[in-house]
Amino acid sequence: MGNERIVIISGPSGVGKSTVVSQLLDRSPVPMVLSISATTREPRVGEIDFQNYIFLSDDDFQLRRDNGDFLECKEVFGRGYWYGTLKSTVESGHSDGKWVLLEIDVEGAIAVKQQKPDTIMIFLHPGSMGTLEQRLRDRNTDSEDSIQRRLEVARNEIGKSNLYDHIIENKTINDTVNQICDVLKRLAG
Ligand code: ADP
Ligand code: 5GP
Repeated sequence: MGNERIVIISGPSGVGKSTVVSQLLDRSPVPMVLSISATTREPRVGEIDFQNYIFLSDDDFQLRRDNGDFLECKEVFGRGYWYGTLKSTVESGHSDGKWVLLEIDVEGAIAVKQQKPDTIMIFLHPGSMGTLEQRLRDRNTDSEDSIQRRLEVARNEIGKSNLYDHIIENKTINDTVNQICDVLKRLAG
């Protein structure tokens, strides 16, 4: 108890963050809980409130923002959708003795690191833009317009990956999760 940290996983949309996160939660060498972000975007088919995201109306989100409830929050993809990490989520994870895993974008990660410098920042890299595009298409959840926008944002995010403590190419899910577990084991001592 007492050395619980924040672990951030970022990377372009489609690189495999959700897939890696769900396996990491099963295999983590330290007690770990996933922070459920709040968002104003619509749930995708199969997404569940308080499980995938806390889905908030625009008004509720802005009220909580004005109230200082977010550790970080921002509008992602320039379409008016807000995403944010609630301070209460991180605090309750740590007070349960758990490391808190955040799956958030690059700007959010930098904002968290500024406030909590012992945060561990991990960037999942697709290897190539072609691989990323294929994964987005195979996932079958986004329109052509949305895929193009995500690829554009991806180029920008990959350009900032040097700000991260660890850059891991997500070649196979198993290897990626093993590499993250090794990092956590080292830090847990
Ligand atoms: P993200 O959460 O980063 O947007 P997802 O976890 O939804 O990405 O993964 C996007 C797609 O790529 C999914 O169809 C997933 O099954 C697939 N995928 C994830 N990791 C790998 C990998 N290492 N190799 C091949 N496909 C992968
Ligand atoms: P999606 O709509 O595909 O679920 O997520 C879109 C993007 O929002 C991803 O890049 C994801 O990392 C980012 N994101 C999700 N939750 C948060 C959050 O709480 N804060 C920030 N800054 N970004 C988030």
